[in-house]
Amino acid sequence: MNFSVRGGVFRYGRDKYVLNGVDFSFDGPGILAVLGANGAGKTTLMKCMLGLMPWTQGGSFLNGKNIREYGQKEFWKQVGYVPQAKQSAFVYTVEEMVVLGRSAHLGAFAQPGKKDWEMVDKALAEVGISHLKQKLCSRISGGEYQLAVIARALVTDPALLVLDEPESNLDFKNQMIVLEVLRRLCADGGISAIINTHYPEHAVDISRKSLLMMPDGTARYGDTAEIITEHNLQEAFDIPVNIRTVSLPDREYTCVVPELPRK
Ligand code: ADP
Repeated sequence: MNFSVRGGVFRYGRDKYVLNGVDFSFDGPGILAVLGANGAGKTTLMKCMLGLMPWTQGGSFLNGKNIREYGQKEFWKQVGYVPQAKQSAFVYTVEEMVVLGRSAHLGAFAQPGKKDWEMVDKALAEVGISHLKQKLCSRISGGEYQLAVIARALVTDPALLVLDEPESNLDFKNQMIVLEVLRRLCADGGISAIINTHYPEHAVDISRKSLLMMPDGTARYGDTAEIITEHNLQEAFDIPVNIRTVSLPDREYTCVVPELPRK
């Protein structure tokens, strides 16, 4: 799987350019983390990347082909999108919500068949929540709901998952569970993920590549260790940053600590 953006430029109407020369070429499998300050254009980038909004200039390419040249169904079979999970009072059970992800494979008004329900079972097992399948979505925790939303994206067997802040709004244990599921899917399942995150530490922890959105609308792309540096983060977030490594019993963990200058 290769996903790339070439010469990506975007502005809303006649406003200033939000994205002004975004270029990257990401070869899977593995995880690409997208980071940047509030308003830097992460959500806009995601929408342009997926063709939900048209680039002003430039384009997005999946396996070398401009995404505009794919049919809708053909594209969404290969790409699973996980929007920010806002748990609603859904009157669906977990398995009913997850089977909705099969719609790219179903004809109009078609009922899901045996194969669809098998794919649902497989996706629920992959994210570790098979035991919740009969529960109502409104009766599970925020972390469990996020895993269910990821399962919904997995039922099309996508080559690429695109996730908008998958760990936001979760407590830190659930953040680790969601990140661990993504790490495992991308390591064992051979799939790729592009995740938009507010946490540089999470990027360092699970991503191979990072794209850092800069205030001038450009983006820095490369190996995470080369992009998530004190210097780059200070420029992107306009605050001094300290990066330190702590030794845990089983691994090294990188801490990213921003620091307001003392008055
Ligand atoms: P991020 O996701 O990094 O916080 P966004 O992509 O949401 O950033 O927004 C980038 C910039 O584009 C911001 O300055 C925001 O105000 C502006 N913007 C976002 N959506 C619209 C819109 N529909 N119309 C005009 N400007 C917008």
